[in-house]
Amino acid sequence: MSESGEKTATVVGAGMVGICCALYLQNEGYQVTVIDRNAPGEATSSGNLGGFGIASCPPAAMPGIIRKVPGMLFKETAPLKLRWGHAVTALPWFIRFIAQSRRSNVEANARARQSLLDKVHEAIDPLIDEAGAQALMKSAGLMFTFENEAAFQKAAYAFELRKRNGVDLDLLDGNEARQVEPNLSENIIRAYRVANFSNTADPLRLVQALAQLFLARGGIYHRAEVRGFKVGSKGVSDILTDTSEIPVEVLVLAAGVWSRPLAKQLGSSIPLEAERGYHTNFVGSEVAMTGAIMSVERHVAVTPMREGIRVGGMAEFAAPDAPADMRYAKIVRAHAQALFPGLLSHQKFSEWMGPRPSHPDAKPVIGRSPLHRNVYFAFGHDHLGLTFGGITGKLISELVTNNMPSVDLAPFRPDRF
Ligand SMILES: Cc1cc2nc3c(=O)[nH]c(=O)nc-3n(C[C@H](O)[C@H](O)[C@H](O)COP(=O)(O)OP(=O)(O)OC[C@H]3O[C@@H](n4cnc5c(N)ncnc54)[C@H](O)[C@@H]3O)c2cc1C
Repeated sequence: MSESGEKTATVVGAGMVGICCALYLQNEGYQVTVIDRNAPGEATSSGNLGGFGIASCPPAAMPGIIRKVPGMLFKETAPLKLRWGHAVTALPWFIRFIAQSRRSNVEANARARQSLLDKVHEAIDPLIDEAGAQALMKSAGLMFTFENEAAFQKAAYAFELRKRNGVDLDLLDGNEARQVEPNLSENIIRAYRVANFSNTADPLRLVQALAQLFLARGGIYHRAEVRGFKVGSKGVSDILTDTSEIPVEVLVLAAGVWSRPLAKQLGSSIPLEAERGYHTNFVGSEVAMTGAIMSVERHVAVTPMREGIRVGGMAEFAAPDAPADMRYAKIVRAHAQALFPGLLSHQKFSEWMGPRPSHPDAKPVIGRSPLHRNVYFAFGHDHLGLTFGGITGKLISELVTNNMPSVDLAPFRPDRF
């Protein structure tokens, strides 16, 4: 309790996930403090592709991945990269990742992801509305594109998995795809369209708007680096930052990929790796684009954004804070230019790298710490942290208030590894 008798909670991390946890705890009457070393949303949540990925139940580890990984690691333009200095650290993660590609695991992981995806909009839309951020949202659909028949056939299982999990997909031929997206390359021969897909035109501004709402409701923002914790008889009693010690009643750890060392200090060893993605913005592009595109062969997504067209992709396994290698932003740029030939003449770009927080089973950790009753974990949302932020916040607030979680949380337990 605070001096005024209010229930209090502290969230570490002000990315999409942390801010949504803070807002949902405020909904339950908590006086909430958010601690972050940066301003809200400036880490991985700033540069993503803005998609609310309701059609993304297939996990990253799919059947047959074991045959593809070695080839991908050595091909210059392939989407998977490993910094060799990081190989030993990442090896146990890769072993677990390969084990997750067994069909029974894939089916279970997809079902678990879908159980969150089913609740995405009912959890996030009220927050977006209250933040007055509807203008940052657009609902213009998504197309998964194919440039050759063999790739289409190879992807059959992933799309069947989507359909079995309730995703509505329309199959289009190349001309039908270009009716939806007239500037798309003639090389596109087929596409699956998800009509009810929405995206934000600016993920950083969206988190900033949600953080403004948090402050307007009386939330406290504390800018500091969290270095450790003090543990008392009832769990964690204080957060140790670079500037002070902050007493806590309820602690939510939502520090993205940087949660791993903090969870370790709290006694939980969790296989969380930085799967670093890159984007290029075609700043001020005049090539018109309606909705979002995901190229199945090229492993990139392209989205129309407020500042131009953004293309993103790549999965570089390296330490989260190692310097970015912007050759990878150029690889995704070339893919966007192949998908939208009108972009070939574009001159002005901005480039970015952000570490996705990824677990081998492609499911976040959402649950109470196995060791400290007043600590909750909310991290590891890999390619879907924007999408899953709202529902994660809702579930964390349900756990903190001892209410029945609106999703079965067994698949997301912190001690499942
Ligand atoms: C290229 C790319 C495209 C993507 N596209 C999409 C998409 O279209 N849709 C989607 O849903 N997701 C997408 N993602 C994934 C999404 O961006 C991430 O899953 C999400 O941003 C993770 O949010 P987070 O709040 O967990 O972490 P972050 O946004 O990284 O926030 C963590 C916060 O914790 C703070 N922090 C960390 N350690 C400490 C410490 N010790 N002390 C104080 N503060 C600390 C950091 O400063 C940071 O603000 C994409 C990612 C990439 C890289």
